Amino acid sequence: MAENAERPLNFIEKIIEDDLKNGRVPNNEIVTRFPPEPNGYLHIGHIKSICLNFSLAEKYHGRCHLRLDDTNPAKEENEYIDAIKDDIHWLGFDWGEHEYYASDYYDQLYEIAVRLIREGKAYVDSLSAEQMREYRGTLTEPGKNSPDRDRSIEENLRLFEEMRQGKHPEGSYTLRAKIDMASPNINLRDPALYRIKFATHPRTGDKWCIYPMYDFTHPISDAIEGITHSICTLEFEDHRPAYDWATSIDGIEHTPHQYEFARLNINYCLMSKRKLLYLVNNNFVSGWDDPRMPTVAGIRRRGYSPESMKDFVSRVGVAKVEGVVDYSLMEFCVREDLNKRAKRIMAVLDPVEVVIDNYPEGQVEYFEAVNNPEDENAGSHPVAFSKHVYIEREDFMEVPVKGYHRLYIGNEIRLKYAYYITATAVEKDENGRITLIHATYDPLSRGGDSPDGRKVKGTSHWVSKDHCLRAEVRQYDKLFKAENPGAATGNYLDDLNPDSLIVLNDAVIEEEAAKAKPGDYLQFIRNGYYCVDSKDSRPEHMVFNRTVTLKDSWAKQKAKMGL
Ligand code: ATP
Ligand code: MG
Repeated sequence: MAENAERPLNFIEKIIEDDLKNGRVPNNEIVTRFPPEPNGYLHIGHIKSICLNFSLAEKYHGRCHLRLDDTNPAKEENEYIDAIKDDIHWLGFDWGEHEYYASDYYDQLYEIAVRLIREGKAYVDSLSAEQMREYRGTLTEPGKNSPDRDRSIEENLRLFEEMRQGKHPEGSYTLRAKIDMASPNINLRDPALYRIKFATHPRTGDKWCIYPMYDFTHPISDAIEGITHSICTLEFEDHRPAYDWATSIDGIEHTPHQYEFARLNINYCLMSKRKLLYLVNNNFVSGWDDPRMPTVAGIRRRGYSPESMKDFVSRVGVAKVEGVVDYSLMEFCVREDLNKRAKRIMAVLDPVEVVIDNYPEGQVEYFEAVNNPEDENAGSHPVAFSKHVYIEREDFMEVPVKGYHRLYIGNEIRLKYAYYITATAVEKDENGRITLIHATYDPLSRGGDSPDGRKVKGTSHWVSKDHCLRAEVRQYDKLFKAENPGAATGNYLDDLNPDSLIVLNDAVIEEEAAKAKPGDYLQFIRNGYYCVDSKDSRPEHMVFNRTVTLKDSWAKQKAKMGL
């Protein structure tokens, strides 16, 4: 990637290069990890973390582990694990044999916990969750020691063993580290290490009814795997002392280090798995892979390319300051990439019929339509032309407004690739709606070229009535209509965009589109970028999704309103 080679190093790359230069990296091998919790599908924010971790490993010839952080059995499912893996592969990254699960380390974590108890560094606490909060203190006040803090080692060992055996109900006891209840950092005020939870775990089944907490599990998992640079988002900055406490427990040989970067936020998008799950469970969307969802599964189905998303996160960059990225930057990256690769197709989304009265009935001609003007190797495909064609309803005006250069009675336009036509008359139904436009064509303008130097100002795309695919077209737009969903009323549901999906059932598309398969990138000329819906499209009833419009109409609209 030439582009990458030229850009300045980000702060994590600087740290890594400095560590390598100063011999601080065991075997000079950089080891990173991407550690999703399998409690939902990956979203666009995760793409940033995936690209960062896997690209660093690639760049410095190290490796990146996939670690499923599965310490909360109540919320985790195998469906999510499969989706996570699939999405990472789609982005073009691979963890090879380095697929790990935090649950792989339950035995080791348990042993470390027992050792901490033996050394007087952990104790079993019987405070309730609420009491524990009271005892914890606040940012300005120190906490208070729990009455159980001085329980004897023997009793702690016995109680912890009983917790493991399932002899105590959920919430009755917690294992806590004995650090410092007066620490200015709340995360060091005797953090919980284990809690009781009677839940069947997707991988360990019913073996355990005590589960280790994140701040205990994560650093030790990193240490066990030999992670050198443990990269996470800024909200974990305050947890770093707890991370360092855990990795310096006696007997832990490798010491990884945690670095924090700013998470990716995009306006008009929500990126919290909890909220996304709510939208799914309450049918505000059709599922995690609804093309309006900011999930990787959603944008895949919407037709975004992995290359465009990598470009997007690379433009956003890696920094330590939190900000909100403009949705239109993401769409810009999608257009940039699709413009280079999408096959051009003529599709008429809101058709009105044109009959070319002087064209022979039954005659069919084929014209060569360019597949991609941006790529001369992309070739062309034939498109059928006949006496009866469809054009977009908005490409005709009975009473043209000033500056209108498309079809109106007496005006001549070009039908792309085919002929010049001139409208002569219209037919209407009882409601006054135009049902048919009469036109004549100039046989000498074959191929859409001017026969005598006369110019036309308008060019319309069209589809032959007897040579077309009738398909369903789903016009997707932003899921939320507010830049910061929920900011105004406190409820993000109030900001759902009622027009985020408009289904068109009358669309007609040139026959070439029937060859398209899920994963192909298309541009419907003048209408936008489209793809075949990977779930609902059938050969006998094709469904196309709008990936993105051709222009940033949103920005234009905002500019018009003076925003
Ligand atoms: P959410 O808050 O959406 O549920 P999470 O942080 O709980 O996300 P995890 O599965 O724990 O999700 O995240 C896996 C990795 O992805 C973590 O290292 C996390 O820091 C990173 N990550 C999550 N959200 C973002 C984001 N918006 N931008 C960048 N990285 C992110
Ligand atoms: Mg999380």
